Amino acid sequence: MKKILPLFLLITSFQVLAQSIQSPSEFLGYELGTEFTRHHQVVDYYRYLASAAPDRVKLQEYGKTNERRPLLLAYVSSAENMRNLESIRQAQLESTSGRGKADKAIVWLSYNVHGNESVSTEASMQTIYTLLTEKRDYLENTVVIIDPCINPDGRDRYVNWYNSFKNTPHQVNPDSKEHHEGWLSGRANHYMFDLNRDWAWLTQVESRQRLKMYNQWMPHIHVDFHEQGVDNPYFFAPSAEPFHEVITPFQRSFQETLGRNHARYFDANGWFYFTKERFDLFYPSYGDTYPTYNGAIGMTYEQGGSGRAGLGVITSTGDTLTLKDRIAHHFTTGISTVEVAAQNHTTLNEEFRKFYQNKNFTYKSYVLNGNTDHKRALTQLLDQHGIRYGWGTAAQAKGFVYATGRNGTVQTGSESLIVSTDQTKGTLVKVLFEPDARLSDSLTYDITAWSLPYAYGLDALASTTPVRTSGEMRSTSFPTPPRDSYAYVTDWNSMEDARFLADLLKAGIRVRTAHMPFSLNGKSFGRGSLIITRADNSSPGKTERLFGIFGKYAHKEITAVSTGYVDKGKDFGSSDVKMIPFAKVGVLSGDPTSSLRFGEIWHFFEQQLHYPLTVLDAEYFGRVDLADYDVLVLPDGRGYRYFFSESNLSKIRDWVKGGGRLIAMGNAVGSLEGKEGFGIKTARSNNGEKEEQEEPRLYEDTQRERMKDQITGAIFRTKVDPTHPLAFGYGDTYFSLKLGNDSYQYLNLGTVAYIEGTARPVAGFAGSEAQKRISNSLIFGVENSGRGQVVYMVDNPLFRGFWENGKLFFANALFMLD
Ligand SMILES: [Zn+2]
Repeated sequence: MKKILPLFLLITSFQVLAQSIQSPSEFLGYELGTEFTRHHQVVDYYRYLASAAPDRVKLQEYGKTNERRPLLLAYVSSAENMRNLESIRQAQLESTSGRGKADKAIVWLSYNVHGNESVSTEASMQTIYTLLTEKRDYLENTVVIIDPCINPDGRDRYVNWYNSFKNTPHQVNPDSKEHHEGWLSGRANHYMFDLNRDWAWLTQVESRQRLKMYNQWMPHIHVDFHEQGVDNPYFFAPSAEPFHEVITPFQRSFQETLGRNHARYFDANGWFYFTKERFDLFYPSYGDTYPTYNGAIGMTYEQGGSGRAGLGVITSTGDTLTLKDRIAHHFTTGISTVEVAAQNHTTLNEEFRKFYQNKNFTYKSYVLNGNTDHKRALTQLLDQHGIRYGWGTAAQAKGFVYATGRNGTVQTGSESLIVSTDQTKGTLVKVLFEPDARLSDSLTYDITAWSLPYAYGLDALASTTPVRTSGEMRSTSFPTPPRDSYAYVTDWNSMEDARFLADLLKAGIRVRTAHMPFSLNGKSFGRGSLIITRADNSSPGKTERLFGIFGKYAHKEITAVSTGYVDKGKDFGSSDVKMIPFAKVGVLSGDPTSSLRFGEIWHFFEQQLHYPLTVLDAEYFGRVDLADYDVLVLPDGRGYRYFFSESNLSKIRDWVKGGGRLIAMGNAVGSLEGKEGFGIKTARSNNGEKEEQEEPRLYEDTQRERMKDQITGAIFRTKVDPTHPLAFGYGDTYFSLKLGNDSYQYLNLGTVAYIEGTARPVAGFAGSEAQKRISNSLIFGVENSGRGQVVYMVDNPLFRGFWENGKLFFANALFMLD
């Protein structure tokens, strides 16, 4: 009896424990899928689980969003694994050296990266609950890490909007308002960035905080849960071509293993699905590719639904798609993923270690020379990725030279940044740095070029032999310049310089800029160099503020000079040395603009430049007095045809003539064509020659034929006029990321960056017809009109916030034109 009793008690208490965990429906007070759960309630449920099953769930708040919502990770496993969680993590990290004996599968499930793909977070709750109860045996050899909501700001934006406009009961008629989000949907984050394009660039606070956690775990499997249009059947692995060439045979085959297991459940339920189409593995900034380039099986799962679906909607086949259906599908693939991981934990560990052994890439080292600030910005990104780098020794390196597109030699030195592929993150290094990623199929979902040397404006060489590093960190700190100097001079060629200027202007410091190069005290200064004179800033308190800012920018060389009499060039009192006014900036938002493109500008001002902007919505633009603004930015967007009514147009035109500066981007440029006062003109294709009749084409080739006209994000070499204020800080070449085939003629005056001659991408895909079309076309230009200017930005230097070297063009448009 005595021996039986404890066992009996144990069973009873176990049952009590299992029963005592409330399901999401029990906890929330409504059946899961009948309401959308706001983020704070989701957080409450996860906190509840961590307190109800503390031996098997651990919760970690890893950060906060822009709107201060918490970001959470839940770790779920067996009680024994949870007791050893830290040693399991250490063992997993040891695997990234290609060694060790780790044998637990680490599965990371990420939900709701797109806020209005709102089923995901709901499904996450059902998934974790089931892993804690019915499917707990999966967790003996598996640790599951759940991020219930990557994008809480976007999700709550959607859920609050939906709750505000839904009918009661909900209306399944797709015409109903509840199926039509407005201009700003819930998909993106606070700054309207797409977080599923940001894994590699880490421009957003959510991405940066998440990646820190990711690098602490380096999971075997990462799933990004999404939704697509309401009429689409479910998509799961295997992914579509193109696959990046670094993806290993095992990574491919395990996607197949997972897909087949999911298919088993979907077949049993009679659910539709598709695989191997549409969602490819190439662009490195996705939640499937980024983990893949870090050795994981990275996948996207796509349910039909998203912001259109609400709690229920009638699809094109006349069926009703409900939130409950959507939960069931995402729940099924989530659980099935963990099941497959549990069954294959040994293989997953062995193969993961193999991924990190013998990396034998063509290019062994990347050598980067150029502006210190650009290198510094790049190393900040590399640090966040856990990519190691070193500094060169006095030597020569041979290899592919990015600037010329040919093999050559460069001198290395202690200023040369060296990044090797022979390191844990070597695969990621290859993907992010190689001159041109090999594309197995041009039909892809996203941009096809992103090479970091071009993006950061650095002179690069890719070497097939390892380049030696000294291992010494360069010191980048300069002593504070002496007070009471005649003036202080500093260079102008980076975003960091623009931030420095923004800080000075905000502090009321008067800053001048040299429109001509000059030399003084044996030092040469280029166009755009900033000059801060004592005479301009003599009022009380200014010196303190000025030196406060100098202290903040100790990594920036500030030269103190005792005279304004230059050795060469124009003296500081010359009319070629101009005062930089504090520009009051208005940015158009709302319907004519794309919310993503608007968001990039918003983020640029607030989080990159740290400079105030006023957002002017198109809805009341007609009532805004433009005289209050020095600069007006029109972000790219599709709705300008309606926005450019005669009254809005004449208002803008008069304001420009009176001294305003208009920055028109993307489609705003094209929409100004033919309007009085604006000289922009589309470049005519095929030089007016008679077009030859095309051969008839097969219907099945339609999509590929269309690719001839397209540029899906490719890098082009452009020529730059470095004497123009819009190009201050640049040399005579700029590598532009082109996102489309829009093509405009050169301006009469003010053609600042342009494609000269035949356009061939230096990296990425551009269709043959598109290449012809954009030959001899404008990239950036300035047209004078009355006392003001119109800046045309055909390409977008702020795209996704990652094209570091383009941002100075935008800063020049704000500060340098006169
Ligand atoms: Zn999505």
